[in-house]
Amino acid sequence: MESYNSFNVARQQILEAARILNLDEATTQLLVEPQREYNFSMHVKMDNGKTKIFKGYRIQYNYARGPAKGGIRFHPDETVDTIRALACWMTWKTAVVDIPLGGGKGGVCCDPKSMSLRELENLSREYIRAVAPLIGVDKDIPAPDVYTNPQTMAWMMDEYETIVNSHQPGVMTDKPTQVGGTEGRRDATARGGVITVREACRLLGVNPKGKFAIQGFGNAGQRAALLHHELLGGGKLIAVSDSRGAIFKPDGFDSKELVMHKLKTGSVMGFTGAKEIKHDELLELDVDVLYPAALENAISKSNAGNIKARIVCELANGPTTPEADLILSANGVHVIPDILASAGGVTVSYFEMVQDKYSFFWDEKTVHERLDSKLTNAYHRVHETVKEKKVHPRLAAMVVGVARVAEACKLRGWV
Ligand code: GLU
Repeated sequence: MESYNSFNVARQQILEAARILNLDEATTQLLVEPQREYNFSMHVKMDNGKTKIFKGYRIQYNYARGPAKGGIRFHPDETVDTIRALACWMTWKTAVVDIPLGGGKGGVCCDPKSMSLRELENLSREYIRAVAPLIGVDKDIPAPDVYTNPQTMAWMMDEYETIVNSHQPGVMTDKPTQVGGTEGRRDATARGGVITVREACRLLGVNPKGKFAIQGFGNAGQRAALLHHELLGGGKLIAVSDSRGAIFKPDGFDSKELVMHKLKTGSVMGFTGAKEIKHDELLELDVDVLYPAALENAISKSNAGNIKARIVCELANGPTTPEADLILSANGVHVIPDILASAGGVTVSYFEMVQDKYSFFWDEKTVHERLDSKLTNAYHRVHETVKEKKVHPRLAAMVVGVARVAEACKLRGWV
């Protein structure tokens, strides 16, 4: 894979949107920089009795539309620029679905797969001790992301509540339901993505019961496999991958069995009756829908020309580089960009914050209906902008998001 600086990619996207929107110099300058960033080191007691030092980040990219919002990643390749890019994308994501939140992101450079549960708990609590003065229900609200989960959020919320000495469940989202989490949050990112695929199939006349492939089989990828069948009434999942490799089954996987296999063995590899293929082969398969659900820059100029999918639904953040966007658009591939396709998670996080504030919880059906209406509206708003401005869908989504954030900055008198 070529190496890209994701924050350069994110900035290039802002500049293109700013040009289309004719934004003035000061507003553009404000939007290409994080408003606040915090870098720190953490000391964590490991199981062998030794102390290990970890590098941590929390970035509040923009809070003109509301408190900063976004996940925390635990990943060995984390840098300040990956977090800047992810925090930046959260800003447009919350704006595209029109929820009253800004954008932020956090991360720790660590290898969670080699750490015990106790070490992960120590690290999560230490992270909160470092960022406690910055976060809060009305300031900045973290959530899980790559290699963090509701258990991580429960530890973090508990540490925060201990520090501030009060009950503050809304300080973290995607918590377990027993400690203030909402129904419908666990599959919300995938559900939002599949809803946008449903709308795209209707619009383009693509068969929703056709073939699909998923790159990355973490939480979003697994849930997308199950929900694709459920919400689109069929579909054949012919290839999946995770960090250990990719597998192919032309007559289709039983998605439930595949998820069970992944949960049991920790990988999709070794699933009975499947053939091993290369990572790039999966992306280039002849499918109706391709879900990139892993990390940044998976689709670049070196493979974009070989993508045969009719619809690419980006459940990952930043999976496509700007050069690849142009190639996909020229080849008629319909990209549902990350800031729209993966916005279901943060949308239900917002629902969770509202419920925590009122201490009054909705049933799952209500969450699903409200999520569907938010994502369906956002999909069509972006599609109207594609037609109106004659731009590819990512640029259209950026135009919608950036315009809303720029307007909020102006109304506040910042620019
Ligand atoms: N980490 C998720 C994302 O990238 C969810 C963020 C949130 O719920 O705050 O969209």
